[in-house]
Amino acid sequence: MTAVARRQLPLRPAGPDTVAALLDWYDSEKRDLPWRVRKGRRPDPYRVWLSEIMLQQTVVKAVIPYYERFLGRWPTVADLAAASLDDVLAMWAGLGYYSRARNLHKCAQAVTQRSDGKFPRTERELASLPGIGPYTAAAIAAIAFNEKATPVDGNIERVTARLFAVKTPLPAAKRELRRLAATLTPDRRAGDFAQAMMDLGATVCSPRRPSCLMCPLQSDCAAHAKGIEEQLPARMAKQERPSRYGIAFLALREDGHVLLRKRPEAGLLGGMLEVPSTEWQDEWLPPDLALGAAPVRGDWWPVPGSVQHTFTHFKLELLVYLAIVPASAALTFWAEPDRCQWIARRDLHAAALPTVMRKVLQHALKEQ
Ligand code: SF4
Repeated sequence: MTAVARRQLPLRPAGPDTVAALLDWYDSEKRDLPWRVRKGRRPDPYRVWLSEIMLQQTVVKAVIPYYERFLGRWPTVADLAAASLDDVLAMWAGLGYYSRARNLHKCAQAVTQRSDGKFPRTERELASLPGIGPYTAAAIAAIAFNEKATPVDGNIERVTARLFAVKTPLPAAKRELRRLAATLTPDRRAGDFAQAMMDLGATVCSPRRPSCLMCPLQSDCAAHAKGIEEQLPARMAKQERPSRYGIAFLALREDGHVLLRKRPEAGLLGGMLEVPSTEWQDEWLPPDLALGAAPVRGDWWPVPGSVQHTFTHFKLELLVYLAIVPASAALTFWAEPDRCQWIARRDLHAAALPTVMRKVLQHALKEQ
């Protein structure tokens, strides 16, 4: 369809009829996700919260196996609160953004310490719990308790920007998009409405080439009427991520144990295990200087190639040095021995190792 033909379609400004059309579509087309319940059933706030925390910065497909493993091991918020943080971090390993796991554990404990041991219902109270920001508070209030709240994630931002043809680029447009999305939120079925917007964004109103011909909101959509849907939402040009560099030291003991170190609780990958490394800096350290920081004295040699990993705010490149050391090997001052432990290779799969450190281990051990 051409842009000219589209202008000839009558545009129905987004409003209550838009909401009704979207809810009808949701009733027949909604995605079957493990944290959703059948129509008429009450969602379990614990499951809604767990899924929403996992879905922050992570796609649905990656979340589902983690969600099912967490629920299998800790079926209630009280079970999760009673778990050790190390077990929670180990179960979370690979999902990224590890502060979420630490806050998940803190939040479970905060909920069980409330007088009724239950999640609060309102956005305001939910937002006072660890790890629950404005978006997640609104999502839990709407989905678990059907409170009139408007969570606005990336999918909902995109649908709203197109429905109202908002041309202001993101992130400056965020506040306006939240306000516009809130004008649509109905008094009844606020949770279904939020999930319907999420589903529409995930399946029909996709970032590139939205399927407007199949969209229940086609006659309400200002961007479609103007033929500009693929240009929205507009975004400010992104700045290139800076690069950082470091050297990781994998000490492999003759009895098949590797040396790992626990990172400090605060900061990037906090509380997770790592292969000891130099600081991650803007430039490479000269190898002779770097080798002075090895955690064990030994015959260190470089593993050919390097490990690359992209974090939200920077790209990391690590060279990896490997040494095979006797079982009696003593740690150097640089290892920070209090935070170190030797772990058997066969147990590494269950260790709280972030993805970047799994890459280091795979790189270093592929021929050992
Ligand atoms: Fe998105 Fe197209 Fe539907 Fe508009 S008509 S909401 S651009 S899929």
